[in-house]
Amino acid sequence: MGRGLIADPAWVNKVATGHECDLRKCISCNVGCAGNRIGVNRPIRCTVNPSVLEGDVYKKKHVNKNCNVVVIGGGTAGLEAACTAAEVGCNTFLLEKGNELGGLASLISKIPAKNRLADFPHYLMHRAEQLDNLYIFKNTEGTPENIRKFHPNIIVISTGSAPLLPPIAGLKDRIDNEDYNIYSILGMISHINDFPKDLEGKKVAVVGGGAVGLDVVEFFADRNADISIVEMMDQIGRDLDPVSKNDTKTMMKKHNVHQLTKTALLEVKDSSFLVRGEGEPYELPFEYGFVCLGMRAQGQLYQSLTEEFSSEDVEIMNIGDSQRARRIIDGTQEGRNILTILEQKGYL
Ligand code: SF4
Repeated sequence: MGRGLIADPAWVNKVATGHECDLRKCISCNVGCAGNRIGVNRPIRCTVNPSVLEGDVYKKKHVNKNCNVVVIGGGTAGLEAACTAAEVGCNTFLLEKGNELGGLASLISKIPAKNRLADFPHYLMHRAEQLDNLYIFKNTEGTPENIRKFHPNIIVISTGSAPLLPPIAGLKDRIDNEDYNIYSILGMISHINDFPKDLEGKKVAVVGGGAVGLDVVEFFADRNADISIVEMMDQIGRDLDPVSKNDTKTMMKKHNVHQLTKTALLEVKDSSFLVRGEGEPYELPFEYGFVCLGMRAQGQLYQSLTEEFSSEDVEIMNIGDSQRARRIIDGTQEGRNILTILEQKGYL
C-alpha cells in the first residue's frame, strides 16, 4: 500500500466510496519513489502523481478569462497537460495523429512484464472522458491549419520520440526490415506475438544495456534463449533505480545472460553483430538481434510552429520526449507545468 498511497493519496476514499475506476494506480516503476529517496537521497516524487507534496489542490483554481489550449500528441505527457488544462477551465483540444492514445507507455505495456504500465494511460484516458471541455481528435495531424481552427492561446507539443539509429554500418538497412530478424524496440513490440514461446538453444543478442534493452532481455529470458547483452559503458542498467537494478542483476544471473560491457557495436550484418570490446573486433551471431540505443526527440514541430506563430500572442510549450527523450515521470511533470504557463500569462 505504500506506493499505492504515493500514487493516489485518495486511494482509501475512492475505494470506500466505490470509485475504484478513478484510482490513479501505482505502476511499480520505482522511479520517483525508491529511485529518488533511496537511490539519490532526494524527496519522493511519483511517475503518475506530479503533486506528491501538495496534492491535487490546483483543481480548486479556475481560469479568469477564456483560454484555448491545443495539445499535439496523446501520449502520457500530452494527456496530463490536456487534463490539467481542462480541469482549471481551459477549452482544450487534443490532436493525436494515430488512432490510439497512450503513446510509448501504451506500446511498452504490450511486453508482458511491463503490463502494469498500461494502468497510467488508462487512468489518463478515463480522467479525460470526465472532462466535457476537453475534446480529443484522433487520426488528426498537428498541422498549422488544423491548430488554427481552435484559435489557440497556448499550444503544447508532446509528439514523443522515436528509436535512435546512429550511423552504424548496416543498421538502417536491416533494422525492422521484414527480410531480417533485427529489431528496434518498436519493431519488437509490433511482432510481440510472433516470437516462439520456447527458444532453448537459440541465440538472442541485444545491443544497449539501458532500461529498454533490459526489457528485451527479460522477455527472452522467460523463453529460455541464450542471451548476450552489449553495453558501451562499464555497467549494465547504470541509470536504473536500486530496486530495479537489483531485480535485473538477479534475473540476468538466473538465466546466465552474457554481459558484454565496454563493448561497442561496429556493424550490423544479416545474422550477427560485429562488436569490439577491449581486444580485436569479433562477431556475435544471433537468431534474433535487437538494437536499443535509446530514443531521440521528435521535436521538429516545435521549430516550425514557433516560426508559424512568431508574430502572434501564442505561447508554445514543448514537453516530454519531444523536448528530450527521458522517462515518463519527466513528461508527466512537464504536462502539469502548464499551470505555471497559465499563471505567467495571467489566466490563473
Ligand atoms: S514512482 Fe512509480 S513505483 Fe513509485 S509510487 Fe509512483 S508509480 Fe509507484
